[in-house]
Amino acid sequence: MDRRCGPCHTCCVLPPIEETSKLAGVKCEHARQNRVNGCCNIYRKRPDACDSFNCVWLTSPEMPDEFRPDRSGIMLSVSIESKGKLHIWEDFNSMEESPILEWLKENGVTKHYELVRVMKRKTDDDVPGT
Ligand code: SF4
Ligand code: SF4
Repeated sequence: MDRRCGPCHTCCVLPPIEETSKLAGVKCEHARQNRVNGCCNIYRKRPDACDSFNCVWLTSPEMPDEFRPDRSGIMLSVSIESKGKLHIWEDFNSMEESPILEWLKENGVTKHYELVRVMKRKTDDDVPGT
């Protein structure tokens, strides 16, 4: 299955980006309001961290469509540095209330990855690092 981000731009909001000094939970200043022509105003010159990032949903076609981060309010990520850890970024939803947790257990993901909550954001006022 060829997955695409579609209108999602959760990874341009939740993670911090060192190269542009973007704080966690703050929408990137380069993110477009209107995503019809793509999501990023500096796409060709975007930081390496953006260029190389794929959330777990994007690379896991077996995950249900409704788990796309902008739909589910949960973004999952792994990286070489994370060494067996599945990072959980909670936006408008929390992991306990989400069917994603059950799905991760049922599909054996929790046997191979330690779940690590790195961020929980419920409202625009609840922004870590500000
Ligand atoms: S969070 Fe995932 S699906 Fe959403 S824009 Fe980023 S990579 Fe694409
Ligand atoms: S630089 Fe572009 S790709 Fe990176 S977070 Fe900002 S809008 Fe998203």
